Amino acid sequence: MADTTNNTPSCSCQKPAPKFPEQVTGMYILAQSLKKVGVDTMFGLVGIPVTEVGYICQGEGIRFFSFRHEQNAGMAAQTYGYLTRKPGVLLTVSSLGFLNGLTATTNATVNCYPMIQISGSSDRVPIDLEQGTYEGLDQLNVAKGLVKAAYRVNRPEDIPTGVVRAYRAAVSGRPGGVYLDFTTQCLGAIMDHDAAEKILQTPVDPYSEVVPNEASIDRALQLLASAKKPAILLGKGAAYRQIDEKIKKLVETTGIPYYPMSMAKGLLPDNHPLSALSCRSEIMEQSDVVMLIGARLNWLLSRGHGKWNPDGQFIQLEVDPIEIDCNRHIAAPVVGDMEAAIDLMLAKLPNYKLQMDPKWVPYLQDITKVKNAKFAARLTANADKLPMDHWTALGAIKPVLAENPDVILVNEGANTLDDTRDAIDMMLPRHRIDCATWAIMGMGMGSSIGAAVATGKSVVAIEGDSAFGFSGMDFSSICRFKLPVCVVIFNNGGIYNGIGQNMSKPGEPSFGEPAPTTLDVEARYDKLADAFGAKSYYVTTPAELTAALKEAIASKAPALIDVQLAADSGKESGHIGYLNPTPLQDVIV
Ligand code: ADP
Ligand code: MG
Repeated sequence: MADTTNNTPSCSCQKPAPKFPEQVTGMYILAQSLKKVGVDTMFGLVGIPVTEVGYICQGEGIRFFSFRHEQNAGMAAQTYGYLTRKPGVLLTVSSLGFLNGLTATTNATVNCYPMIQISGSSDRVPIDLEQGTYEGLDQLNVAKGLVKAAYRVNRPEDIPTGVVRAYRAAVSGRPGGVYLDFTTQCLGAIMDHDAAEKILQTPVDPYSEVVPNEASIDRALQLLASAKKPAILLGKGAAYRQIDEKIKKLVETTGIPYYPMSMAKGLLPDNHPLSALSCRSEIMEQSDVVMLIGARLNWLLSRGHGKWNPDGQFIQLEVDPIEIDCNRHIAAPVVGDMEAAIDLMLAKLPNYKLQMDPKWVPYLQDITKVKNAKFAARLTANADKLPMDHWTALGAIKPVLAENPDVILVNEGANTLDDTRDAIDMMLPRHRIDCATWAIMGMGMGSSIGAAVATGKSVVAIEGDSAFGFSGMDFSSICRFKLPVCVVIFNNGGIYNGIGQNMSKPGEPSFGEPAPTTLDVEARYDKLADAFGAKSYYVTTPAELTAALKEAIASKAPALIDVQLAADSGKESGHIGYLNPTPLQDVIV
């Protein structure tokens, strides 16, 4: 017989509690409902009215990873969802906690990661009349429009339905973030235990794949076969689907070169002979047929315009029908689940004769050789530079990660993001997690925790100093849960770099104050690791960095490496400076 009060040893908010052992609360029903859909892990930050939810879930065997800020807990949940194909679950308190978490739930929606944010909310009556109540906010309506789906559960008997609906919404079709609101009254409502057990549900086939129609497969194969310079473009949707062998088979059977988007790196090893990773421009400008697999023609691909061959045609394997044609005409849409699409393609491929120009792949391979040699030379040229720049540091890191291909790389920043993506080869699927479609900062500590928890693998997070600042306090959560995460901070003292100039004039109030991009080039981030008992390193040379990273990975314990870079290393906005209204160099005269 469940007695929820037994699960709340040090919790002060024990009202309301069942009066009789045969009674349970809504919180108990919520925990059971989550277990029924297979949730065994949660991330969150508790307080009124969900403290007991955390305790009860933990008491029921669900792992609960507590955080310092809800956004970071949400980033952990979204990364957990991306890596497991099960919704990552975030638990938040009402009002501000809800809003902080909603940033991550929205980000999960943009990135197509399955996630459920569960939040407690205050008494509905004074909220609806705007009478002023504790943490009063109409959370359901705030969430709507930002997430894939949003539901509120008002009665304990509806809790199992709410959880199942949220689960299905998160994983089905195009995955996304779902918001599930529980009023305080619902969480505290009391039901008879037997009645509660009867309403629990286990969903049948919660991810049911929709098979694309065969005509769309034939149309796609016909176009692909006719191409002289075809290419396959792999996105993180392809990595997410976990059909690595089938994608490899499609690439290798057709012999068509592929270009991986950032988080699809490693889906096939970056040194694969058909990898056109270094030939982005050539593919955009010259390919006559490009097959998009789990990738969108969004801003990261110039929305299909700009450099792209204007006469090129697209095939798109995509689960969401309304993604098709949203930027550029798609000649052969294949709408449905990617696995089913690729199975059908592999089965029908022998019926088609590919007309690829025999010179196309060797041409791309030659370019790859030249570009890779240029890249290697860049690393070598900067190898001994002191103080270090981004390339010096990456030159020191590259061989260590090459020796440890199974380490998951988390990466955010501006130059730190761009240069790391270019310098570090990925050899295994789903081993690179970055700020993704929205190009947001602040996913570092959360995603590192989510990745470590989801996989049990070691994580190395390469962080710009500014990017780290958004989630840095949750390094303490890495330490509390003793996770095998090494955080590497590239400290160049600023957003983009540490040489921003104050443009005010003598006499103006801000004269002499730090520039908007200036942070703390002399900060000792390693002391943060000392505060929480993690192994800490402060490194100023590539040799020290190599040694520290090797030791940190081998320890399988929390570690932080503060990498001192030159303040002038890095340029404004990294590779995407063109998105600024005016180049900063032209503003500062
Ligand atoms: P990238 O940024 O790497 O290009 P995106 O996140 O923009 O990747 O695109 C991923 C795409 O994959 C989304 O359009 C999403 O709808 C699609 N997708 C996700 N799951 C599936 C699936 N099972 N079958 C087909 N497409 C999928
Ligand atoms: Mg910086």
